[in-house]
Amino acid sequence: MTKTIEQQVEQAAHVIAEADALLIGAGAGMGVDSGLPDFRGTHGFWRAYPPYQQLGLDFVSLANPRWFAEDPELAWGFYGHRMGLYRRTNPHEGFDILRRWASRLPLGGFVFTSNVDGHFQRTGFAPERIVEVHGSFEGMQCTRDCGIGIFQGAEIEVEIELTTMKAIRPLPACPQCGALARPNILMFNDWGWDSARADVQHHNMAEWLESLSGARLVIVECGAGQAVPTVRITCERVARLCGGTLIRINPREPDVPSGHISLPVGALAALRLIEERADFERLPNPE
Ligand SMILES: [Zn+2]
Repeated sequence: MTKTIEQQVEQAAHVIAEADALLIGAGAGMGVDSGLPDFRGTHGFWRAYPPYQQLGLDFVSLANPRWFAEDPELAWGFYGHRMGLYRRTNPHEGFDILRRWASRLPLGGFVFTSNVDGHFQRTGFAPERIVEVHGSFEGMQCTRDCGIGIFQGAEIEVEIELTTMKAIRPLPACPQCGALARPNILMFNDWGWDSARADVQHHNMAEWLESLSGARLVIVECGAGQAVPTVRITCERVARLCGGTLIRINPREPDVPSGHISLPVGALAALRLIEERADFERLPNPE
């Protein structure tokens, strides 16, 4: 018999309160409650960015490193606009709820996200407890690959002509050789992405998972769809290998392997519902 949402919430709250460690998986749906677009569907994307409809360019064709060589103003118009949007947008309360849960569990939490907005760091999660599997706007790299590696992007600002979505020169440049810079974000058909930062993050996560041996692990996955399934696959694999309970929060694709918990609602709504029912009294509050 299918469980009601209320029963699933109750069970989720119980599992989290009893857990020793929390793995958080986050996909594009996590940012939707902060007001960020999830670029789902070409027409949704074009409604947000009409100039691209006139150019006949959808999200997948724009998120391609070739534009940094062929049309740098177009490339930085697209990425610069997103970078500005992510900086101006505040992470929603669900991020704080997750951080509180992580801080109350004896072995803490770890984040595995496909989002490039840096919003977990901004909420106060330790950088060494985060994997940004598709990179982040925090890092930049040189399109000439001059050897500088990944450098800080926090100071970089891009001005954009909104009617054309083209960036206005001067464009972000490599501080070592002066060539065009690009964000350290994994694009489609991106053979030039510098994975050094993500490699270190993956190593940190492997060590953390190893340190859990025998501990009770709960995995809370928020807004991770099947279109780019990295986060879903990772959460399912960790649940299987570490014997953890997976709580999948996803209004559109809530299917979950048997024995795990599915909440077919938005991230913020689900996290609030669980928070209301979770009993953390048995746990010492480190704050
Ligand atoms: Zn360079």
